[in-house]
Formats: sequence, C-alpha cells, structure tokens
Amino acid sequence: MLNPIKNNCEAVVKMNGLKNKILESIFEKYQQWIENETFHCHRGCSLCCTQNVMITAVEGQHIYNYIVQQKKETWFAGKLLHKRQAQYVKLTTNDFARLCLEKNTEYGEVEQPQQNGICPFLEENCCNIYAVRPFICRSFASTRDCHDYGSACLDERLLVINTVTMQLIEHLGQKGYWGNMLDVLLALANHKANGGVKKYISDDEMINSAISNTLTAEPIPGFLLKPEEENEVNLYLQTVLSAKIGLKTIEEIFNNK
Ligand code: SF4
Repeated sequence: MLNPIKNNCEAVVKMNGLKNKILESIFEKYQQWIENETFHCHRGCSLCCTQNVMITAVEGQHIYNYIVQQKKETWFAGKLLHKRQAQYVKLTTNDFARLCLEKNTEYGEVEQPQQNGICPFLEENCCNIYAVRPFICRSFASTRDCHDYGSACLDERLLVINTVTMQLIEHLGQKGYWGNMLDVLLALANHKANGGVKKYISDDEMINSAISNTLTAEPIPGFLLKPEEENEVNLYLQTVLSAKIGLKTIEEIFNNK
C-alpha cells in the first residue's frame, strides 16, 4: 500500500545562485544522512559510471560553474561531443510519482535504463568532475561487490531516501531541463553564461537534438511511501528542508515565504 505525503513545496525558485546553494545544502545533508552506512564502494571502482545518469538543469549548471572556475572549458566541450550510447526514459521521477499517485496504469510501462556506454567524465577509473558530480552519482552505492554479482545491492531504506532526494532536486529544478546528463549539459551550453564552452561546440544540430531529448522537471506531487517508511522520510525531509540558506530555510524558500 503506497501512501502519498502531501507536498507543500509550491513555489519555483528563480535565482540560479540560490538554487546552487540549495543544491549544495541538499548534497551535504544527504551525505550526513548516509555517513554511518557501510558500502563496498572504493576509489577506482567505476562499474556504475555509465552514460545513463539523469540530472536536472540545476545540477548541470553546478557542473558548468565548476568547469568555468577551473578553466576546463575546452576539455569539457570535448567530453560533451563524446559518442552517445545512452538510453532514454519517458518520465521524470516526479512524473512517475504523479502517475502512481493518480493510479494511472501507464507507470507500469516505465522502463529503467540499462547500463550502456561508459561516462565520458571517467578517466583512469576516476571521476574527473567528482566534486560536482550529480546526485545520482552520489547515490550510486552497493553493500556488496558489484563485480561479483553483476549489479549493485542497496538497502530498501536507502533506495527510498535516494528517490525522495531525487524528487527534491527535481522540484528545485522544476520547469528546467531534466534528462540524460550529456543532453542536459549540451542543452545548457546554449545559455549565455556558458558561452565559454559553447564556442568549442560548433554542431548546433547536436545541441538541438540534445534539447529535444530532454524532458521538463516537475514539482513534487507527493512521495510514494509504505507506512513503515514515513517516519524516517519525514525526519530526513525535516533535516533537509530546515537547513538555512541566508535568513530562510529551504522549506520557506520552496514555499515562497
Ligand atoms: S559523472 Fe563521475 S561519478 Fe557520475 S557517472 Fe560520470 S564518472 Fe561516474
């Protein structure tokens, strides 16, 4: 039995700098939440680094800010032009949650992306944008050796916290691009602030095709939780949403107070 928790995050957050700070705060609170968990993951293990990483434009812009700061625009543009082997999904996380909450049977047809193509940011088995990697990469973890079993294994509790966090980040990026990391990053190259990367990408058709591959990030419609999961998720949400950015909590900013 799935019980939605009422969504009270209504407003769109407009300022890019503010969104960046909220994103960093969510990353920090998530990291603190999982710090006592035991994982098998270690530096140099990169089995989960495929091209099927889904991100929001907020996470994409977070990466661009770092690239500009590090003056790695040429290197970065080369990575964006990397050959694609990604798979595409038809629904964002919040779209999927909305369909489930509306009891729309379409959700039964949603396919999970398979492993496909190595992420171009992986070099010598290490992530070259590790400091600003998107949330999905932060949530990649396994309690057993994926090489032995062919896939990761994660406690159901953490899967729920990961999904809730993805929903919060999508909410933060609502009305912006949502989709495959390379598509979202290529789409963002068109933004004036990212002109330093765009000048190395002469292929406008590739950018247009990336834009058409993306979906639009949606607000949170509610969460898909079993009754026994609600207490932990409420506690987690309280921790994330009560964090202050300047004078306001994230919850107040989301609710435009
Ligand atoms: S961005 Fe980094 S952590 Fe994420 S899939 Fe690519 S190499 Fe791996």
